[in-house]
Amino acid sequence: MDVLVVHGGAGLWRSPSRRAKRELLAALDVGVAAFRRGSALEAVEEAVAHMENSGVFNAGVGSALNLEGVAELDASIMDGSSLRAGAVGCVRTVRNPVKLARLVMEHTDHVLLVGEGAELLASVFKLSKLPPPSRSRRAEYRRRLSELLEKPPFFMERNIELVREHGGAFLYGTVGAVALDDNGNLAAATSTGGLWLKLPGRVGDSALIGCGTYADNRGGACSATGVGEAAIRVCLAKRVVDLMLRGFSPRRACRTALREMLELVNLPNAVIAVDRRGGVAAAHTSPHLLWSYWRRGEQPRARTRGLHVS
Ligand code: ASP
Repeated sequence: MDVLVVHGGAGLWRSPSRRAKRELLAALDVGVAAFRRGSALEAVEEAVAHMENSGVFNAGVGSALNLEGVAELDASIMDGSSLRAGAVGCVRTVRNPVKLARLVMEHTDHVLLVGEGAELLASVFKLSKLPPPSRSRRAEYRRRLSELLEKPPFFMERNIELVREHGGAFLYGTVGAVALDDNGNLAAATSTGGLWLKLPGRVGDSALIGCGTYADNRGGACSATGVGEAAIRVCLAKRVVDLMLRGFSPRRACRTALREMLELVNLPNAVIAVDRRGGVAAAHTSPHLLWSYWRRGEQPRARTRGLHVS
């Protein structure tokens, strides 16, 4: 049974633009077409690459900028049939970090490459270059920077305070996908520009297998979004998959993992999941999560809420 779930990130999605919804649904279409050519792995890669190219989400072309005004992108992908995985962190020049993550998985002996080493691999495979940030994103950078400078304490503590004050305004638009194909194979992928105004060199959960992305055919697949520092500390995506492995439904697994996380690290996050029977869930402690899913015979629609966990 082919099933594909996509998300456009936790955060500010109370009333997403028509374009954001359209691109999310287009990512589903692209992923579903990829099922026909390949597998769950192809579907998640193509769906995420579509969102990276759209410029609407905080990934690829539309990525958030770090404290120096530079985009540093993270992404990862995992094949649940073999537990093979690939990931990249802090890449500055690559338009589709998810494709680079796939290359790391397929063409190297490694799982995670960062910075210049990752970019070298991208140039060997002639991946497309990331265009410079648009004028509006540079303006957004200046606005956010002056807001941040107004009120020390300086970096992350203040940033996280702003997350709390604005109910997730500082986090939005990371993209991810999870899929189950007709052969029972599961896959997951996640891609992001990370948190706005992060310190240069910061790597978030989206680059880390087990934190932002995980897939295991015996249980399920999960992609996470939200404050990466929290997801890393509880290995959020692996936690969700482990619960499904123990027989929890995707909904119960997502709810349990997010509840546990809230008790340990009270910061906004969200997850999407699919299990090996094709059950689907989306849950969030953030106010919103933009997501959708495709299953044969059902009409997909863009949703701004899943199961809200508090
Ligand atoms: N999890 C991402 C990060 O911390 C951000 C997000 O999901 O919006 O890099």
